[in-house]
Amino acid sequence: MPSLTKIFGSHVFDLRTMKACLSKPTYTALKRAIDGAARLTMEEANEIAHAMMEWAVGLNATHYTHWFQPLTGRTAQKHDAFLTFDEDMTAIERFSGSQLIQSEPDASSFPSGGMRSTFEARGYTAWDPSSPVFVLTRGSVGVLCIPSVFFSYTGHALDKKTPLLRSERVLSKSASEAIELLTGRKPKIFSTVGAEQEYFLVDSEYYNQRQDLIMAGRTLIGCQPPKGQQMEDHYFGTIKDRVLAFMEDVESELYRIGVPCKTRHNEVAPHQFEMAPIFQRANLAADNNQITMDMLQKIAKEHGLEALLNEKPFAGVNGSGKHLNWSMETEEGSNLLEPGSTPHKNIRFLYFLVAVVNAIHKRGDVLRSTIASSGNDHRLGANEAPPAIMSVFLGSHLTGIMDMIENSLDLTASEISEIDLGLAELPNVIRDTTDRNRTSPFAFTGNKFEFRAVGSSQSISLPIVVLNMAVAESLSEMNAMLEAQKDRSEKSVLHVLKHFIKRSKAIRFEGNNYAQSWVDEAMQRGLPNLKTTPEALVVWERDDVREFLTHSGVLAGPEIDARMNIKLESYAKEIDIESTTLLRMVDSQVLASSFRYQSVIAQSLQNLLSANKAAGIDGSTAVGAQAAYLDKVSSHLSRLLVSRDELDAVIDGAPDFEHSKESAFYYRNQVIPVMDRVRSDCDALESMVDSDHWMLPTYHELLFLM
Ligand code: ADP
Ligand code: MG
Repeated sequence: MPSLTKIFGSHVFDLRTMKACLSKPTYTALKRAIDGAARLTMEEANEIAHAMMEWAVGLNATHYTHWFQPLTGRTAQKHDAFLTFDEDMTAIERFSGSQLIQSEPDASSFPSGGMRSTFEARGYTAWDPSSPVFVLTRGSVGVLCIPSVFFSYTGHALDKKTPLLRSERVLSKSASEAIELLTGRKPKIFSTVGAEQEYFLVDSEYYNQRQDLIMAGRTLIGCQPPKGQQMEDHYFGTIKDRVLAFMEDVESELYRIGVPCKTRHNEVAPHQFEMAPIFQRANLAADNNQITMDMLQKIAKEHGLEALLNEKPFAGVNGSGKHLNWSMETEEGSNLLEPGSTPHKNIRFLYFLVAVVNAIHKRGDVLRSTIASSGNDHRLGANEAPPAIMSVFLGSHLTGIMDMIENSLDLTASEISEIDLGLAELPNVIRDTTDRNRTSPFAFTGNKFEFRAVGSSQSISLPIVVLNMAVAESLSEMNAMLEAQKDRSEKSVLHVLKHFIKRSKAIRFEGNNYAQSWVDEAMQRGLPNLKTTPEALVVWERDDVREFLTHSGVLAGPEIDARMNIKLESYAKEIDIESTTLLRMVDSQVLASSFRYQSVIAQSLQNLLSANKAAGIDGSTAVGAQAAYLDKVSSHLSRLLVSRDELDAVIDGAPDFEHSKESAFYYRNQVIPVMDRVRSDCDALESMVDSDHWMLPTYHELLFLM
């Protein structure tokens, strides 16, 4: 294998490649376009497109595609060949500036949530120069992928990327105003993101025998194996050769297209793994995470494995999340959440820290809504996952500093220096990994926040958008208050901090987020506990939330409605697929296996009775226990027959998906409880039925054999 530095980015049209292939003025123009400072002229675009094509053809690319992220949450592409004919009808390769910049994929089958009615089903993709183009190769041929935004004829965003780019501008504005107030300088600000991706691997042979895994991405029935993860010996354990070979393949593919994978390890549950990249600017991190998910699933198949990205593939076993590490940096790369060594820098640090805490306090429910999905509903609040209640963990040292600022009624000079003294020691203390709270959904981890409630299959874009917007809003409020002070001294800044620390105090929680006592306490504090997807999503209907989302121009009214409706509809559709799959499995597999097993025991009992009779033994006491066992099997079977009919009936009674809200609440209230009952009878039967008769691969096979 060639060295990492040789392959890393070898398939990315990066700055160095651009510089080598482009004329100097065009290179300069492109760099400005990348920074969002200017638009390219058509001539420049033509030169860039041609250079890109030549470079891509050199890597065996035959096609190009505008690569985008529709509202399905995954990626989409439509390949076009570079092929065209010249005057003599000779085939030549050509790629023009206009082809690079804009394309019109057949958009009618992507969800638009009503923004694009079918008669004007036009959708356009446009190149996003801030994310570099790359060549994806599988086998011997490649495709030039052009990261793009996707929008409707009316200019509304039909994708995940557009709002993210808009939110970066909004955050940059408020954050640089804050820095200007604090320091007089006004740098551009970017949010930075590192998304740790968790996933399960199962053997394809077992996967292919489970309709639920194929159709829903998670098991709908299955009883717990005797050895779950109680032993926790998988975490950071030796990685099996087969898995390692898979990981190496994924990584080398990702390295080539510039995804900086950094760590890989076993996770807590058996067959669960994690990979984490080096953090990048948010837009790139979001693109890279989408590619990572695609790559995990594609390459797993080549290894006879299936990568499960669902948030809760196995009941009773840890689910999979995507820890979204988030911070802000200046254009020079200085991290705004890095505690400084001087009091002066610490003031900046504290200002941004408090802004984030205040943002989560004010917009925690909106943030929670961005991670709502049927899969995540099963994960949140169960087996080592944070609950749906948003709270912020700061650690004891920073909490002490917050309390100190809050409680010093009169911020005299001596008290300030006392605070400074504490701050000067910050870096050592908060980097101490013992001061961590794994149960918090939103934890400060030394120089960044870690949002742990994001689901493993979800796009990270929307959570970043809301985080960016909430922090921007919070900073604007703080900036306004600071501007109204008589000076910009540390004392004035501390005065502002004190106000916002007090106001946002309820969101801070240092204790165990998994405990029931926290659920009760959170309720007393008035923190929202939006347990399921439908109730989390309808937050978007509230006037104050719409005002928050529209006011900065990040999302327009129709874009909000579209996103909410699409999410509600997907939720309903997912549960519809799950419930009908469950019904099929019950009918074709569970009932069949159980009936057969029942007749084996019944026959055995019959045989025993006959044998006893022949031998003249009074059998009633001798066979009593066996008859009771038969009765146990048959009562579960009878119950299942009843619950399966109920399930059939509630599925039939479901409202049309077009009524997305009604339909989502219906599935949550009427269908899920019946699914749970069906499952409990199935699992009871599984635990009794002879394994020769049980037709489905069990948790034991799925989680321990590979
Ligand atoms: P931890 O031990 O807290 O998980 P790591 O250093 O392993 O810390 O980082 C976890 C993830 O956080 C990685 O993806 C890393 O790139 C990312 N990360 C580190 N610093 C930042 C930052 N300033 N902004 C965003 N993400 C970051
Ligand atoms: Mg981490």
